[in-house]
Amino acid sequence: MTIQDRIQQVERRIEDACLRSGRKRDEIGVVAVTKYVSLERTKEAYESGLRHLGENRWQDAEAKWRTLNEESPVEDSPIWHFIGSLQSRKAKDVLGKFHFIHSLDRLSLAEAIHKQAVKLNVIVSCFIQVNVSGEESKHGIEPAELQGFLGALKEYPTIKPIGLMTMAPYELEAEAARPVFRSLRELRDEMLATGAADETFSQLSMGMSGDFEVAIEEGATWIRLGSILVGKEEDEL
Ligand SMILES: *Cc1c(COP(=O)(O)O)cnc(C)c1O
Repeated sequence: MTIQDRIQQVERRIEDACLRSGRKRDEIGVVAVTKYVSLERTKEAYESGLRHLGENRWQDAEAKWRTLNEESPVEDSPIWHFIGSLQSRKAKDVLGKFHFIHSLDRLSLAEAIHKQAVKLNVIVSCFIQVNVSGEESKHGIEPAELQGFLGALKEYPTIKPIGLMTMAPYELEAEAARPVFRSLRELRDEMLATGAADETFSQLSMGMSGDFEVAIEEGATWIRLGSILVGKEEDEL
């Protein structure tokens, strides 16, 4: 299957999920997660029209980042999303290169991002990663810590918290992820209702290849699709 075919199939499924839940297609952004695939395949994704690209390690992303930014017109260059857990000392690698960070999960990282952002004179749009499912293996702050975390982030004016991100347990069926996604939406709504965040804190980054339709039904504004959209390297295209 070509990436073009994959995009069409995924589009149809996104549209169906929107219909089922009374949402508009343009409320949902798609991050094409290229972490599994080569530079060649990433170029093909770009050439097929995918503009939001997600990577989780700078070492793996670097060649793709440089090549695609070089080869694409400035006004139509990729928009990069950093989706992986980020070590504080690596913040300097990704700042100024990625437009969105989906994995802000501790104040020491906020501090590192802020330091670098001040140097570069940039504002960084960040999702706060929350461990809704409570799995020990998952990154993210505890839901109960969110309000305090948002308050503490005010110390770092270069960080713009734009919403929440979570990962559902992989091993579950898509439907079993629904309570996780629903909790994330409720958590966002609570932050808005209590004034812990302002209305720019509106985004929900949730849903991957196995569960994106449920995530859309529960209010996702960004879904992050790797294997289903751009494939894995070992797949035949
Ligand atoms: C790898 C990854 C994805 C994409 O995974 P697929 O299941 O292949 O769609 C999405 N989000 C994060 C945080 C990831 O690490």
